[in-house]
Amino acid sequence: MQNLLHNLNEEQLAAVTLPAQSALILAGAGSGKTRVLTTRIAWLIQTSQVSPSGILAVTFTNKAAKEMTARLSAMLPINTRGMWIGTFHGICNRLLRAHHKDAALPQTFQILDSQDQLSAIKRLLKQMNVDDEKYPPRNLMYFINSAKDQGLRAQDVEAHDDYNRKFVELYELYDQQCQREGVVDFAELLLRTYELLTRNQPLREHYQARFRHILVDEFQDTNDLQYKWLKLMAGPHNAVFAVGDDDQSIYAFRGANVGNMSAFEREFRVENLIKLEQNYRSHGHILDAANELISNNSRRLGKNLRTDAGHGEQVRVYEATSDLEEARWIIEQVKDLIAEGWGRSEIAILYRSNAQSRVLEHALFSSSIPYRVYGGQRFFERAEIKHAIAYLQLMDNLHNDSAFLRVVNFPTRGIGAKAMESLQDAARQYNCSLYAAVPYVAGKAGSSLNAFVKLIEGARFETQHLPLPETVKITLELSGLLEHYRNEKEGADRIENLEQLVSAATLFVSEEGYGLDAPAFLGPQAQASAGAAITVADGVEIIDADASLVTIMSPLSAFLSHASLEAGDNQAQAGQDALQLMTVHSAKGLEFDAVFITGLEEGLFPHENSAKEEGGVEEERRLMYVAITRARKRLFMTFSQTRMLHGQTRYNMRSRFFDELPDEAIKWLSPKVQQHNWFANPKSAWDEVPESGNNKIAQSFSRSDSGWRIGQNVAHAKFGEGVIVNIEGGGGASRAHINFGKFGMKLLDLSVAKLDKI
Ligand code: ATP
Ligand code: MG
Repeated sequence: MQNLLHNLNEEQLAAVTLPAQSALILAGAGSGKTRVLTTRIAWLIQTSQVSPSGILAVTFTNKAAKEMTARLSAMLPINTRGMWIGTFHGICNRLLRAHHKDAALPQTFQILDSQDQLSAIKRLLKQMNVDDEKYPPRNLMYFINSAKDQGLRAQDVEAHDDYNRKFVELYELYDQQCQREGVVDFAELLLRTYELLTRNQPLREHYQARFRHILVDEFQDTNDLQYKWLKLMAGPHNAVFAVGDDDQSIYAFRGANVGNMSAFEREFRVENLIKLEQNYRSHGHILDAANELISNNSRRLGKNLRTDAGHGEQVRVYEATSDLEEARWIIEQVKDLIAEGWGRSEIAILYRSNAQSRVLEHALFSSSIPYRVYGGQRFFERAEIKHAIAYLQLMDNLHNDSAFLRVVNFPTRGIGAKAMESLQDAARQYNCSLYAAVPYVAGKAGSSLNAFVKLIEGARFETQHLPLPETVKITLELSGLLEHYRNEKEGADRIENLEQLVSAATLFVSEEGYGLDAPAFLGPQAQASAGAAITVADGVEIIDADASLVTIMSPLSAFLSHASLEAGDNQAQAGQDALQLMTVHSAKGLEFDAVFITGLEEGLFPHENSAKEEGGVEEERRLMYVAITRARKRLFMTFSQTRMLHGQTRYNMRSRFFDELPDEAIKWLSPKVQQHNWFANPKSAWDEVPESGNNKIAQSFSRSDSGWRIGQNVAHAKFGEGVIVNIEGGGGASRAHINFGKFGMKLLDLSVAKLDKI
């Protein structure tokens, strides 16, 4: 026991060994929250207070769940494979598979990731002849998801006008469509489980009796439904151990509610509120920067962080002239770090928006540094992989219309729009899936559709006794996908990816413990005999979703869920020794020796959308706090005067966050340009100059003949201070676009306007 506890400080020790009551650990970044949570699980098991099966641990990403399981295996001589450690979605998926009948779902129900969900919505709108300009699919998706995140079905949503009533109606129809097709979206996983457990008392009591200890990491980012779900699982007696940091709440845009922390304290009658104040991650200057920055937020629960690690190095700040130059400079720094012996996987480049990775990748391409991008176009979201997955989905669940539509004519097999129209009409008429409607379509259309059905059924038949990787391999051939990409000019990459899918399947079955030769499809008898625990509660037989997924899902179904959940996760597979690129959101909970925070410009970070929402800038500041606190030893911050984003060149002012950092902690690698507080009206500061100005910028930052230069800070009697973002013409005739912050962008004649250089 000594082993487990001897590496903890006093507060951490107190937290790990708390009695079996609900507790809240509120602490800043890097103070050991995740470590405390993991150690507590080990301690509870080691001291026989609970068996491994009595633990339910909720993490924020699949990657975090894997890491936690790995750490536990290292701490305890137990088999962690069957333990319930996962994301809310992963855990709900498991419950719904085990109790699919009670939840009114087919056992092979499939999970829609957000892309799939959007196409399902578009399809619905089209079918209902709804004007998608008036009711944009994305808005409807947002509407549906936020209702579900609050635990509301269509009938529970109050609509105050016709417009909203239409949304509610479409929400209802969308749910019906999903039900018909046997698919569920992410939010539905949770809501369905919540409803199931609310309705089904024996089942609820069964799980309540089972999970005596529920532990939740990153609690600040739980949404309303997740919180209600936890309350339900906890019942009146179980201990919920929640760890979180209000300063790291960064998912408000997805319904996360930091208010859950105070609700939790009250409703779970928390007697033990423990604060951890010692930071073990970052050197002093880095921590000072984080502390000072976040002190600018007003609504905080309040806590401090200190470190014994000494000041360490100052934060290095670099101003680039363009995003390309910024990227090149970063790559040079990375090369130096690697030459000094820093591990590649210990270096992270963070950005606010996914779109920023393109330039970085471009610069990395010509260097020989291996790198891995997390997020963005993830493996399971690539088109060719989606096609392959759709074939497998259809083999697993013939009624999945999304999958059907994706591949019915891909590769092309002469099934045109007209054939599909008759098929959709038939499906509507008989209220059945597209697959089931095929026999109702006559003529040539009917026979080509029938050929497709034969193909799917043939693939099913041929692979029914084969292990998953073989099934995937054969499906790639039979579907014609490989052939298709072989004939495509630039198909080599795609074929490589498809081959990767076979490797992914191999890795999956070995990691999940299916055994490499278990057939991809599992018959019902095999499932029943696979050892699912059966208990009787109140005379009702309950087959527990016990042990691993092996007992309740076929390898194919499990693999398909994995693909959807992985696609929705913010993390990709952990890299070996590659430079790490990711958004700040995806970096939550992680740590690296060296971190670059890039694109620190007004409009980008803080993001321009934040100005429109109440509390938006505070959320951006928390995001910046998360970014800074990822670094252990060396931190770089960069920004650029110009940036190409979404096809437009933007002229940026450096982020206001620089003005919120302590001077002593910062080292300017480029001369600090005077910039003052122009942000009283940030929106106007972000207005983009007209497209026509862009070409002329190619001359870049060279001084114009008149001695003015782009990037020059100026003062004007009426407009105050500004920055020159573009100069037109030359000599005496030059005019300049000047961004005057709250007065917006002005075009002034440089020879007339009385401007002072500052
Ligand atoms: P975040 O808020 O970013 O998720 P956290 O509070 O979860 O951070 P951890 O990731 O658990 O923090 O810990 C940060 C680092 O400090 C880890 O490398 C961890 O191993 C180390 N650490 C935590 N506690 C101690 C300790 N008592 N002694 C030495 N190292 C520690
Ligand atoms: Mg953590």
